Amino acid sequence: MYDLAIVGAGPVGGTLALAIADADLSVVAFDAREAGATLRGDRSLAISHGARLIFERLGIFARLAAMPGAVTPIVTVDISQAGGFGVMRLSAGEHDVPALGYVVSYRALQSAIDGELARTRTEVRFASPVTSVVGTPTQASVSLGAQSDPIAARLAVVADGTGTAVAGIARERREYGQVALVAKVTTEAPHAGAAYERFTPTGPVALLPENGHYGLVWTMSPAAAQRALALPDEQFLDELRRHFGARRNDFQSVTERRTFPLALEYARPTTASRCVLIGNAAQSLHPIAGQGFNLGLRDAYELAELVNRSPRDEIGERGMIARYAARRSVDRYAGIAFTHGLARVFALDAAIFRWPRGIGLAMLDAFPPAKRAFTRAMLFGLS
Ligand SMILES: Cc1cc2nc3c(=O)[nH]c(=O)nc-3n(C[C@H](O)[C@H](O)[C@H](O)COP(=O)(O)OP(=O)(O)OC[C@H]3O[C@@H](n4cnc5c(N)ncnc54)[C@H](O)[C@@H]3O)c2cc1C
Repeated sequence: MYDLAIVGAGPVGGTLALAIADADLSVVAFDAREAGATLRGDRSLAISHGARLIFERLGIFARLAAMPGAVTPIVTVDISQAGGFGVMRLSAGEHDVPALGYVVSYRALQSAIDGELARTRTEVRFASPVTSVVGTPTQASVSLGAQSDPIAARLAVVADGTGTAVAGIARERREYGQVALVAKVTTEAPHAGAAYERFTPTGPVALLPENGHYGLVWTMSPAAAQRALALPDEQFLDELRRHFGARRNDFQSVTERRTFPLALEYARPTTASRCVLIGNAAQSLHPIAGQGFNLGLRDAYELAELVNRSPRDEIGERGMIARYAARRSVDRYAGIAFTHGLARVFALDAAIFRWPRGIGLAMLDAFPPAKRAFTRAMLFGLS
C-alpha cells in the first residue's frame, strides 16, 4: 500500500508532490497527460507574491526564472470602472515587495514542476488517467480502468482539476451566464509591468503583462463572444479600444483568441474517507480577482505541512483529514465569497450601483490602511 496517491500532477498536484518529496513516504502520482505535455495547451496564470514564496522554497521559481519570458513581474495594478468615478492604483514599491504578483505561462510552470519532480524519488505515472477513487475507513482505492488492478493508498489526494472521479462528493455549480474571451494583445508602449482591471457594463476586463505582450481576459455574454471571435483583427482591436476607454488604448495586434465559460464550481465537502480534493478539483472560481489558482496552491502547501508532520499511520486517518478541512475552511470560503461577491457586484450595471463602487475604489485609494489590507489579501490571500 502507498502512503499517498496523487491524482493529477498538474500545477497544484505537482506542487503537493514536491512539498512532501523529502518525507520518508511512498508516494505515487498519476497524470492523464503524456510526459512533457500539458493537457490543455498554454494559458497565463496570475500568481501572488505568496505563491512565489511557495515556488521558491520548492525550487520551481528558479527553474521558471531561467526560462526566457516564462515569468513577468506585476509592478503596478490600475483598477477602474467604465462610466463611473473611482480609481485605485496599487504599486509594489508601496508594499516593500519586489512585485505585487507575477504572470506565469501554464506550460512553463508545468515543465518546471515536472523537471523538479524528476529529481525526486516520487513515482510519477504519465498517460495514466484515473477512472475512479473510492475511500473506505481503512484505505483509498484508485482505479485506472478495467485492465489493471486498483492501487491502494492511506490517502488519495485528487488534484485533477474537476474532482469528478471521486465517489460520494457533491458539487455545486453557479453559472455566471458569461464567458471569458482570452487573447494575446500587443501595445505601442511597453507594458512596464503594469496590469489593468477595468469594470465595464458587460463585466470585467483584465490586461496582464506577460513577456512582450498583454494577456487579455475580457468577460462578455456568450453571443457577444461568438461575434468577437469572428471579427477581423483590426475590428476586434477597435472594439477593445472603445471598450477599455482612455486608461489604455494603444492596442496594436491580437493573436490566439479563444473563450471559456465562467462558473463557480465547488465540492461540498472537499473531503471523504481517506480522500482530499485540492486545487480546481475542490473549487474553481471566476477569474475576476486572480484568486483561484493561488487558493489551490495554498491547499497543496497546507496539506503538505500536515502530511510532513503526521506519523505515517495517521496519514489519511479521519482526524488528520478533519484537521486539514478545518485549517482550510476560512481561506477557502473567504476566497469563494470574495470572488463570487466581486463578480456579482461588478456585474450589476445600474447607475445606482456605479456610485458605491466608485466611492469604494476611491476610498480604498485614499485610505492607506484599507488599501494595505486589500493589497495584503492580493499578495498573500484572505485568511
Ligand atoms: C479553460 C480554462 C482557462 C483558464 N484560464 C486561466 C487564466 O487565464 N488565468 C488564471 O489565472 N487561471 C486560469 N484558469 C484557472 C487555472 O488554470 C487553474 O486554477 C489551475 O490550472 C488549477 O490547477 P490544478 O492543478 O488544480 O488543475 P489543472 O490545471 O486542471 O491540472 C489538472 C491535472 O490533472 C490531470 N488530470 C486530469 N484528469 C485526470 C485523471 N482522470 N487522471 C489523472 N490525471 C488527470 C491533468 O492532466 C492535469 O495535469 C483557467 C481554467 C480553465 C479551465
